Amino acid sequence: MPTEPITDPHNAELERERLTSLINSMADAVIAIDEKTHIVVYNGAALNILDVNSTITGKLLTKVIKLIDKTNQPVDIKTIILDTKTQTTNRDWRLQYPDGSTVNLYTSIAPVKLGYGQEGMSGYVILLRDITREKSLEEERDEFISVVSHELRTPIAIAEGNIGNAEFILEKTGDQTKVKEALEQAHDQVNFLSGMINDLSTLSRAERGKLQVDVEDINTYELIEEIGKLYTPDAEAKGLKLFAEPDRSLELLKSSRLYVREILQNFVTNAIKYTEEGHVTISARKRDGGVVFDVTDTGIGLSKADKERVFDKFWRSEDFRTRQNNGTGLGLYVTMKLTRLIHAEIDVQSEINKGSTFSIFVPNLA
Ligand code: ADP
Repeated sequence: MPTEPITDPHNAELERERLTSLINSMADAVIAIDEKTHIVVYNGAALNILDVNSTITGKLLTKVIKLIDKTNQPVDIKTIILDTKTQTTNRDWRLQYPDGSTVNLYTSIAPVKLGYGQEGMSGYVILLRDITREKSLEEERDEFISVVSHELRTPIAIAEGNIGNAEFILEKTGDQTKVKEALEQAHDQVNFLSGMINDLSTLSRAERGKLQVDVEDINTYELIEEIGKLYTPDAEAKGLKLFAEPDRSLELLKSSRLYVREILQNFVTNAIKYTEEGHVTISARKRDGGVVFDVTDTGIGLSKADKERVFDKFWRSEDFRTRQNNGTGLGLYVTMKLTRLIHAEIDVQSEINKGSTFSIFVPNLA
């Protein structure tokens, strides 16, 4: 917007008011300082981000702002500002409040001429923006990519090794049994990958709020029997017994068949994965307004502290017996998302080295 040269004092006053209302309407904090870093002008957003409610005009910038870097070391903001020759930006500093809490900042420092009748006076304009949310999303995304790529690498390497092995045996000895064995192992890994990709795609749809709930009549008896049949081979392969104990007296349940099934499948997969001997039982019982499903195992169990964290994204126990199994720490996180969609309630009872029961109360949806 072209502006008139400021000659008459009324115009100057008007211009100043315009500028003040302009910077006050900005969401970013703007602070103008003189050459000695005394605050000359600032806007309302600056008071908000600095969390002060009295005037800061005339104060030294270092008295109102404490910045720390990625390694929690104080940032010598005064020296940095005085060394700034052209506009510079930074996204790695944090603003620290007197109580020790911090916010991530986007900071821009620009050397400027501060006119306002004091011809030639120069200083700097500092712009601050709270980017805590963006930063935590960025960190989450980086962690996500690193966990997922790490978890993909192992099964792909095993499958590739086994397929290469099968080719080699075919060429050299033609031993059918050994070829079959190698291909079966490769097949297992591919199945694991496909399960993981399913989890990831459910998760991404859940996070974008794209999952819809289709309420159907669920025959709990049939559902439990079906899941029991589906997982018996996996349980038997580990020498475990799988008991499906459906209750015939249960009435039809009104909820999302797809999600209830996925939640139970996650519980059962984990129960088999984290149990070395004994059994896994799937059962259901009536409770007012719905049905409670229990998946009980005689497995490695969870410590009290671990129990609190099982539904966290990417969380996996440090227990070496957990780490012997592939996993992403996403299964129960996805389960929790689905649970909320169908207004269900989850409960975990567990004792280390004794076993766990993962329960879910599924209410009838209208
Ligand atoms: P994943 O199995 O891929 O690691 P989950 O989100 O399904 O991820 O589970 C998170 C963690 O919770 C597991 O890594 C394991 O440490 C713990 N956990 C889940 N189910 C059981 C269980 N039935 N018994 C013992 N630990 C369990």
